[in-house]
Amino acid sequence: MTRMDATFEEFRRHCAGFVDRHVVPFAGEWDRLEALPRNIITAAADAGYLGRPYGTAHGPDEMEALAILHEEVGRGCSSLRSLFTVQGMVGRSLKRWAGPETAARWLDRLADGTAIAAFAVSEDGAGSDLSAIRTRLERTGGHLVLTGCKRWISFGEIADCVLVLAITDEGPSTVLVETSAHGVSLRPLHGMLGAKASHLADITFDKVELDPSALLGRAGAGLRIVVSQALDFGRLSVACGCVGLARACVETALAHVAQRDRAGGPLLRHQLVRRHITQMLAGMETARLLCRRAARMSGQGDPNSVSATALAKYHAARTAMQNAWTTVQLLGAEGCAPTSPAERFFRDAKVMEIIEGTTEMHETTLADYALREFHPLLGSGP
Ligand SMILES: Cc1cc2nc3c(=O)[nH]c(=O)nc-3n(C[C@H](O)[C@H](O)[C@H](O)COP(=O)(O)OP(=O)(O)OC[C@H]3O[C@@H](n4cnc5c(N)ncnc54)[C@H](O)[C@@H]3O)c2cc1C
Repeated sequence: MTRMDATFEEFRRHCAGFVDRHVVPFAGEWDRLEALPRNIITAAADAGYLGRPYGTAHGPDEMEALAILHEEVGRGCSSLRSLFTVQGMVGRSLKRWAGPETAARWLDRLADGTAIAAFAVSEDGAGSDLSAIRTRLERTGGHLVLTGCKRWISFGEIADCVLVLAITDEGPSTVLVETSAHGVSLRPLHGMLGAKASHLADITFDKVELDPSALLGRAGAGLRIVVSQALDFGRLSVACGCVGLARACVETALAHVAQRDRAGGPLLRHQLVRRHITQMLAGMETARLLCRRAARMSGQGDPNSVSATALAKYHAARTAMQNAWTTVQLLGAEGCAPTSPAERFFRDAKVMEIIEGTTEMHETTLADYALREFHPLLGSGP
């Protein structure tokens, strides 16, 4: 084992200990209550996890460490992993593109968990297709004025600030909005299929007046630069969370089939059961390799890291879904019970195929990546 591998392993053990103590025993209850309690957010902040995506150097080693952290958290609770994802996306964007006053006002509070962030791009008519966004940001006198409605926003219900993608005369732009501002209203969404403790809400902006310093980067660069880089980090985080979810499925399924007696011995003796376990293991391990590779490439600033991350997310989300399906199948009726983690894994995994780029959107874009990589003469495809 190299010294770096040993450092990663030590960090992984630290994260795993946190998740085993503070997350795994409670994740089912958070799912039923559809809420994350403040004490877990504070504990994550105290462990130094929330500010990590923007607090230190971002070389390949740090990105791999983040991949490890988000895998471990994803193993325990997809909603908590979602909090890590969004705080990281917004914190990194603020660190890079906000003015010094805005950065000073929010970055420490996001890291110590006293402020919660949301990241709002989706709208009724704009989910996969972000060019269809209608939320408007106008310049009026010395102010910016924001009008529109964002849908399905993770942590929108409890967010203190929200990074919003809106259209200006110059093109798509990003602004940071305090949710206490006049004209901001929240509609919490309950009873979603999965990631139920991620405090989803629709957020309406009714002529919200903002200081020009709320703009991140320059007007018109919101989609191409700010959002695309934040989404890239978010996608990597979700992909790693999916590896953790896929692993939780392997562990839950194995614990069951190793001790459940059927036809004169444990279920694990039967060939078809062994095939299920092998397929789950192979999916999980390959997804992890893709995630770690994408993390390294991202930390090295490799331009191909965007495609590598998309590929990792595509494979990891499908693997999480497949492993959750198999786990419920192997647990039988027990896997369908509300007391079983398997049914939560199943619901959470389905959501992973929809957020941060649907499976279909990745299938269309990754085909172009394949063409560029393996058939360069045809360029970027049709
Ligand atoms: C739990 C949860 C949390 C979320 N959190 C956030 C958040 O924090 N911030 C935020 O902005 N959004 C959030 N979302 C919204 C999420 O980003 C969108 O749901 C996602 O982008 C898909 O958009 P859509 O739901 O409008 O589906 P659509 O874009 O309408 O797609 C519907 C279906 O059509 C397929 N499809 C669409 N276009 C094509 C195409 N060109 N070719 C082939 N197939 C296509 C899709 O793959 C999908 O299967 C969240 C959603 C959920 C469920």
